[in-house]
Amino acid sequence: LLWILIPGRVHLVMESTLTARDRVGVQDFVLLENYTSEAAFIENLRRRFGENLIYTYIGSVLVSVNPNKDLEIYSKAHMERYRGVSFYEISPHIYAVSDNTYRAMRTERRDQCILISGESGAGKTEVSKKILQYYATTCPVTDHLSTLRDRLLQSNPVLEAFGNAKTLRNDNSSRFGKYMDVQFDFRGAPIGGHILNYLLEKSRVVHQNHGERNFHIFYQLLEGGEQDLLSKLGLERNAQKYQYLVKGCCPRVSSINDKNDWRTVRKALTVIGFHEDEVEDLLNIIASVLHLGNTQFGEGKNGENQITTEPQLKYLSKLLGVDGAALREALTHKKITAKGEEMISPLSFEQAVAARDALAKAVYGRTFTWLVVKINQSLAFKDDVYNSSKGSSSVIGLLDIYGFEVFQHNSFEQFCINYCNEKLQQLFIELTLKSEQEEYEAEGITWEPVKYFDNKIICDLVEGKHKGLISILDEECLRPGEPSDISFLEKLEDTLGGHAHFVTHKLSNGKTRKAVSREEFKLIHYAGEVNYSVNGFLDKNKDLLYRNLKEVICQSNCQVLSQCFHREEVTDQKRPETVRYTHTHTHTHTHTHSLICHLSVIIHPVKSIRRFDEALVRHQVKYLGLMENLRVRRAGFAYRRHYETFLQRYKSLCPRTWPNWQGRLADGVATLVQHLGYKPEEYKLGKTKIFIRFPKTLFSTEDSLEA
Ligand code: ATP
Ligand code: MG
Repeated sequence: LLWILIPGRVHLVMESTLTARDRVGVQDFVLLENYTSEAAFIENLRRRFGENLIYTYIGSVLVSVNPNKDLEIYSKAHMERYRGVSFYEISPHIYAVSDNTYRAMRTERRDQCILISGESGAGKTEVSKKILQYYATTCPVTDHLSTLRDRLLQSNPVLEAFGNAKTLRNDNSSRFGKYMDVQFDFRGAPIGGHILNYLLEKSRVVHQNHGERNFHIFYQLLEGGEQDLLSKLGLERNAQKYQYLVKGCCPRVSSINDKNDWRTVRKALTVIGFHEDEVEDLLNIIASVLHLGNTQFGEGKNGENQITTEPQLKYLSKLLGVDGAALREALTHKKITAKGEEMISPLSFEQAVAARDALAKAVYGRTFTWLVVKINQSLAFKDDVYNSSKGSSSVIGLLDIYGFEVFQHNSFEQFCINYCNEKLQQLFIELTLKSEQEEYEAEGITWEPVKYFDNKIICDLVEGKHKGLISILDEECLRPGEPSDISFLEKLEDTLGGHAHFVTHKLSNGKTRKAVSREEFKLIHYAGEVNYSVNGFLDKNKDLLYRNLKEVICQSNCQVLSQCFHREEVTDQKRPETVRYTHTHTHTHTHTHSLICHLSVIIHPVKSIRRFDEALVRHQVKYLGLMENLRVRRAGFAYRRHYETFLQRYKSLCPRTWPNWQGRLADGVATLVQHLGYKPEEYKLGKTKIFIRFPKTLFSTEDSLEA
């Protein structure tokens, strides 16, 4: 063990693990001399990025820059290097965070949670996969647990096939939020897993913006599916033939190999334990969505609206396992109850198209949820397989959601995604500041809080009871009369006008603002300003599927669909659910679960270009609150160690503590730091730990360097 000088700073490292290249810049921003300077912060990131050093700490927060190329830093040998090693003794890595979380779970016997935040394309999903791989490779596994390990790993390609898509920002963008628990037994072996999925962006099934694609699975099936299979499903090997796949004009993506991915997904489904009949049902459903997209309507002989694409209807009835005539009727008519009597009324052309699209979205969305349920069954901890008591197990949770995104045109989907990110940021703030405060409090140390932007004001604007944006939306959806997207916008203006984070085209002096159109509202998010078009907000929030269509699907003899659409749904006349309820659930869960969090913040230099775009990075440093985070770390005590660990490690630096200190640990530590020339204001002795304000003065003498 040696003390090594990092350019500009003295820091504690192990010679054997750090090379000269590793020492570019500072590996922990806390050691940055000019720590209040954003320019110095970015320069440190840039210098390190130039050397492919994509990871840097701010204390226990990991900042990562997306390299957009494969780096040779994820091998098994790398994993081994990080096992059991202290955070600061080796160059920053996601494996260090993984390993520390794992050890904290084991020693403290408490559930842990790793939160990953960053905008779309920043690399969150990649990081979460790397963490999972780390556990799969380094944790002890016995024979019958290897199946579970494989299933855990294989759940990713399946969920990505069904829940990820190419967007303008990311070729493999997550279009759903995911919270994954990995359960470990008392020996630290993974024994179970559970996935909670949040709000899939279902609208993508029927529409994609220019340059974007539908969910990967559609293209995988068309590219990779065997000819026999496609014939059976009535499909052609040409994505251009399907209305639901042509909207974005982007059937192929250079970074994606749909054919290979198809094989991976098929294999993964088998590993996870899906039955052949289930896979068959699943593929029938995927194909039926494509047929639905090609189902067209036109005017019949008597001017009525009818289906003009008979072959599609035939395939639909076969693949969905429903009666063809009933489906035809339900796609062109609706059932209404007037004065206690049920009546059938024909749908207009637009209504029929909307009903068809609603069916496609509902079928796909519910099938996705079914997939997650099945995966969870296969990952579930089974007592009979492995004889361990459930009580002594602990959990590591991994939260990977869709990142903040702004496009030229933003709608309800971006609103939901960005709101989710707003909540995550809130959690970040709470945890970084709160955990810091709690630690000082628990150790009996006083400190001065640092000012930072609290985005609670934006969360309240969106979710506040009665006066929040979602409440107003829900009310408008359920209001009798003729609510519309525009009437919703007017309500927003009435209620929220004047709020610092809410803007419409109306200015307070009666004039109009050019930057926001008449059909838009702008939210000033923590991560930037976004204009949202209200078009479709009401329908998307209601997520309406006509009752008679639901009735038809509930009669399906397809096993998977009958599990997705329960018969009680059509008999039960409860208040219609809006999207909101799903959301609320999401956040309560995360809150109750996260006891301790290791955070990782990802910065994305620029989409698919390996250049370090300073302006982009500066923007993200700002909105992620990294400078504030650093200031909090610095205002407090950048360095802390349990007395015992500290003494054990540094006792050789002082003749009075070497070879062993006989008295109270705290006294030994005090003797040691005093010997090193620390002034009383530079450190604090807590109940169990020593806190040092600036580690730069630690071991700063020539003596200690040689020691
Ligand atoms: P979204 O919010 O849209 O889901 P994300 O943050 O999950 O975005 P990822 O899908 O993880 O983003 O990353 C986007 C792409 O960037 C990856 O497909 C990969 O090509 C590249 N990438 C990300 N992280 C790394 C890494 N550590 N090494 C190499 N490439 C990476
Ligand atoms: Mg992702």
